[in-house]
Amino acid sequence: MTPEEFRRYGKQVIDWIADYQEKVEAYPVLSQARPGDVLAGLPEHPPERGEGFEDLLADLDRVIMPGVTHWQHPSFFAYFPSNATGPAILGDLLSAGLGVQGMLWATSPACTELENRVVDWMAELLGLPARFRMAGPGGGVIQDSASSACLVAILAALHRAGGGTAAREGLSAQEGLSAREGLTRRPKLYVSSQTHSSLEKAARITGIGAENVRVVDVDPATMAMDPAHLDALLAEDAAAGATPVMVCSTVGTTSTSAVDPVAAIGEVCARHGVWLHVDGAYAGVAAVCPELRWINDGFEEHVDSYATNPHKWLLTNFDCTVMWVGDREPLIGALSILPEYLRNAATASGEVVDYRDWQIPLGRRFRALKLWSVIRWYGAEGLREHVRTGVRLAAELAGWISADPAFELFEQPRFGLVCFRPRWEGLPDEEADAATLALMERLNASGDLYLTHTRIHGRVLLRLAIGGPATTDAHVQAAWRRIGEETRAGAAGR
Ligand SMILES: *Cc1c(COP(=O)(O)O)cnc(C)c1O
Repeated sequence: MTPEEFRRYGKQVIDWIADYQEKVEAYPVLSQARPGDVLAGLPEHPPERGEGFEDLLADLDRVIMPGVTHWQHPSFFAYFPSNATGPAILGDLLSAGLGVQGMLWATSPACTELENRVVDWMAELLGLPARFRMAGPGGGVIQDSASSACLVAILAALHRAGGGTAAREGLSAQEGLSAREGLTRRPKLYVSSQTHSSLEKAARITGIGAENVRVVDVDPATMAMDPAHLDALLAEDAAAGATPVMVCSTVGTTSTSAVDPVAAIGEVCARHGVWLHVDGAYAGVAAVCPELRWINDGFEEHVDSYATNPHKWLLTNFDCTVMWVGDREPLIGALSILPEYLRNAATASGEVVDYRDWQIPLGRRFRALKLWSVIRWYGAEGLREHVRTGVRLAAELAGWISADPAFELFEQPRFGLVCFRPRWEGLPDEEADAATLALMERLNASGDLYLTHTRIHGRVLLRLAIGGPATTDAHVQAAWRRIGEETRAGAAGR
């Protein structure tokens, strides 16, 4: 494709995306495709000769679009939002256009230094501790996902646990290594029943094993981790000769956006010498608003690593997770290797950051461009405004749910996620849960809105997550109306 052809088709593609943004509401939110529908529309064999780009655009409309679920639809309330905004898309396009692979500072200094700057900007916007800044002992990095951030945190924690042993006891490197091997036989991770599943996956990937993941009790009302039980488990495991490696606490759980008491958990971790990772994948970005900055309580003291996803609620298209560590030493110690073919003067000088040492893969995209683009376009003011709209709409919906005797609100929402269920008066729990799931299926099949569910204390709850940039009062009102109609129809049909 010549630059001239690229210019021509590029304009068409941008027009296509802008048209899509204008008419996204005309689509059913959830794709109505059945398994195999899209596949059936695609040729079994790749073309022998190159084809025109027009053909691809035509197939996009004909074959692909019917199989797309519209995450940017203003009535998309499933999972958590995955905002793709104009400035983010354009930033990502620029990244694709430059085609930079930023594994080392030397492979494109701007890729690293822009990232250094935007992770500091994010730390400032969220009011994070000074030690997370690039000028401090720690620093930030953009990962592809919160799942990767958690995996990387475990590797750093393992390194510190092993290396710490060596340093404390004055062991040689080889002895330190054996000590580390010793501990990898009985390392323990600590989560709650509400912790994201990526933790258990990371336990498997690291070889720690799901059987070494300890599940700390939660407060049955708030679903927040119980620091006293954590303390007891840590003491029990240490006494039994196991090595507590990392505690993962969550600010805004996936199920119900519960917030663990990070300050109290941090105090327990410090006493036991355990790494504390905080997963703020969804809700962490809410700290752009001073009135929501209480979610950072306890960060100042004991948190070793923290991650939040601009790619959920903060107007940045997937993938963009910002992760910070309070001390970069164990992270780099765990992940740095320097084969001959990557040696270069800048790395040797020690003056630069080589982000390949802060993540699992070697290669990395120029993701900082889209975050830079988003922050500059919206400004701190615009980011706050977006979060506040989601919080306000969620509070309004929660008010209507509370006021309706046919429904039960799980908890007053603090962010954009509202959890609730119809009461189905007179039905035993199991049948009520089946009725709630059937209601959700009908609503989603209608294409008018899309929501998901969870289970708390064995009972089904509907989750309605607000936070799309195009979602307005009218969309939330319409969703609530549809839920009410469909619930009454379900109750009458029994
Ligand atoms: C969404 C979510 C994750 C996983 O995020 P990815 O970036 O998709 O890996 C992890 N933790 C919490 C609390 C989440 O809500």
